[in-house]
Amino acid sequence: MVVPYKHEPFTDFTVEANQKLMLEAIKQVEADLGGEYPLIIGGERITTDDKIVSVNPSKKDEVIGYVSKANQELAEKAMKVADSKFESWRKSDPKMRADILFRAAAIVRRRKFEFTAHLVKEGGKPWKEADADTAEAIDFMEYYGRQMLKINGGTEINSRPIEYNQFNYIPLGVGVVISPWNFLFAIMAGTTVAAMVTGNTVLLKPASATPVIAYKLMEVLEEAGMPAGVVNYIPGSGSEVGDYLVDHPRTRFVSFTGSRDVGTRIFERAAKVQKGQNWLKRTIIEMGGKDTIVVDSEADLELAAESIVQSAFGFSGQKCSACSRAIIHEDVYDQVSERVAQLTKELSAGDPSDNSHFMGPVIDQAAYDKITKYIGIGKEEGKLLVGGDGDDSKGWFVNPTVFADLDPEARIMQEEIFGPVVALAKAKDFDQAIEIANNTDYGLTGAVITNNRAHQEQAREDFHVGNLYFNRGCTAAIVGYQPFGGFKMSGTDSKAGGPDYLIQHMQGKTTSEMF
Ligand code: GLU
Repeated sequence: MVVPYKHEPFTDFTVEANQKLMLEAIKQVEADLGGEYPLIIGGERITTDDKIVSVNPSKKDEVIGYVSKANQELAEKAMKVADSKFESWRKSDPKMRADILFRAAAIVRRRKFEFTAHLVKEGGKPWKEADADTAEAIDFMEYYGRQMLKINGGTEINSRPIEYNQFNYIPLGVGVVISPWNFLFAIMAGTTVAAMVTGNTVLLKPASATPVIAYKLMEVLEEAGMPAGVVNYIPGSGSEVGDYLVDHPRTRFVSFTGSRDVGTRIFERAAKVQKGQNWLKRTIIEMGGKDTIVVDSEADLELAAESIVQSAFGFSGQKCSACSRAIIHEDVYDQVSERVAQLTKELSAGDPSDNSHFMGPVIDQAAYDKITKYIGIGKEEGKLLVGGDGDDSKGWFVNPTVFADLDPEARIMQEEIFGPVVALAKAKDFDQAIEIANNTDYGLTGAVITNNRAHQEQAREDFHVGNLYFNRGCTAAIVGYQPFGGFKMSGTDSKAGGPDYLIQHMQGKTTSEMF
């Protein structure tokens, strides 16, 4: 019997011993920087001349690693390997596949500080955020391992006296996993192991900003006993390798987390039935958000301000769950905006290595440029309360920024910025607050701060988001506790870390025997 699932506890960095371990781990990671990482296809290490250079977003000149880059020829080779490996892997014992995840989770747990320190460097994450990312990677392995065991137990269906009916989920085939840089470990590992534990073979194309952590996951899976060819590591460019594999007639499904532009592109391309393809591809897609915290007039206002600030600026607002809008009841608007501004002024952005800043950098130059462009737009559309500037001389740092008095239709109220920028707007009553909260293309997360039970129930019915939280912030879903995924243009509501996630990587087969 496997012990019941429990999420991995977070590390308390106020404890001196933990601080010491973390500083030592960062030193060790620094000593290992600048290594070369090959592709892994069928277990074979392949080095190419063309490289992706992964850099530390806090220190642009610090190279995390030089990662070999796949081209179409290598992507084709990986597809052939995955396709033929599927024939044996699909018949492998699901219990064995789950055991690989349990062992992989144990390996990561044992080396937790080392992984967390790597995420500080490659992802630019503050310690707390990096630790949560590692913990979530462990959680996905532990949770999906157990979910697979449950699915393996079969699903109850009826039989009549002269027949025996069975219903089982079987794997799909080769899955292309395209993972994001923001949860560079957790979502990359979660989407990969979900596809693999369900008996599919995988082509893993990690985000080009953070490919080294994905190599490290490969090493962990290999150490845990995953056979060669089950997951293949093929970093490469989206337009060359990504499109090629999404279009490939042997691709059975695509699991993608990232931007709306890329997500809709994948959705459209995957819909086209290619020559020689005899199935309809499945897509599991998680895209952006324009997530709102609603503050009611009857509410704990300190909790409201803290929730807005934490959800807006944790990991520099680079979560699709991040709070980018707060809709505040007019009776408490001035009080809450003032407190949000005060709390934000206490925060700073800087190199996360020594844990002295609440925020680290944003991921790269393109992100910095996009965010500062939106800050410019915000200055025209609203009233700047705090921040509004940045510095990209050494790393890509944007100061936490608050705009007030926005029109609900303003661009910074509608478009995803994916950075440390929050916009505040006033509502005349709770009905209007919910109406504004729903007025975007997205439907990922939301929160309502209220002590009014009727309003809470109203929001439960009418606030149309995949993850709705009451009296807390709108980020930090926990695997197995708050299944995560959104409505509308946020994606396919695939609910990562939820009870029905794995079966999206499978197909139901009915067998019926006559006696
Ligand atoms: N699951 C994360 C959260 O609840 C967000 C994931 C994402 O940004 O893609 O905050």
